[in-house]
Amino acid sequence: MQIFLFLFCIIFLMAFLKTPKVKGFFGELEVRNILKKLKKDEFEILHNILLEKDGKTTQIDHIIVGRTGIFVVETKNYSGWIFGSEHSKFWTQSFYKSKRRFQNPVHQNYGHIKYLEYHLQDYTGPFFSVIAFGKKGTIKKMDIMSDYIHVVPTEELPRVVHSKTVVGMSTDSVRRVADMICAANCSGKGRSKKHVQTIQQNIRLKKEKISNNICPKCGSGLIDKIGKYGSFTSCSQYPSCRFTN
Ligand SMILES: [Zn+2]
Repeated sequence: MQIFLFLFCIIFLMAFLKTPKVKGFFGELEVRNILKKLKKDEFEILHNILLEKDGKTTQIDHIIVGRTGIFVVETKNYSGWIFGSEHSKFWTQSFYKSKRRFQNPVHQNYGHIKYLEYHLQDYTGPFFSVIAFGKKGTIKKMDIMSDYIHVVPTEELPRVVHSKTVVGMSTDSVRRVADMICAANCSGKGRSKKHVQTIQQNIRLKKEKISNNICPKCGSGLIDKIGKYGSFTSCSQYPSCRFTN
């Protein structure tokens, strides 16, 4: 009888470790450990920053402030082969024979940088956008032309940070910029709840519009189309509005 109980516990534990939340937690921990390799007196490292702008909020995984600039890190724990390019709307995650597409994280991170720019109006240095993939994913093909964008495995984060050599800030400025980000960060408990509520409300409004055949981006009508990945809904104003669902 006891052996069954034991097996049950093992199975339960394994299932628990496979939930996205737990996996995400360990993924984030891994990145934090990698970033610890950066020298403490040269870099300010911030995690899980929540910023507000025009009544909307955004969450940034990691920010590294150094004398060469601000590195904004978006982490993805996707498995399989990753294909993407700087300007395409979607990137592809490919397993043996199945494919899945996801929003271009460079675009997502560009949004994060816009929030930071808004809160750091005195800062004139560069922003570097870094997309970091965890161990399970292999970056197969990546077309990035900009020197300000890097797509790398998480363990290469310190290398990317050290690859920048143009020093534009004093150590004091680095600390000041980090302080300003911390001051703008609203991921205190109550605020964090508000972020979730705002997101849920936005999702609800978006769904409502889509179900009424209204484009949530521009308010025009929506039409059904058939594409490479099956049928999808698109804005009738394409290409001036590029909303798809
Ligand atoms: Zn539209």
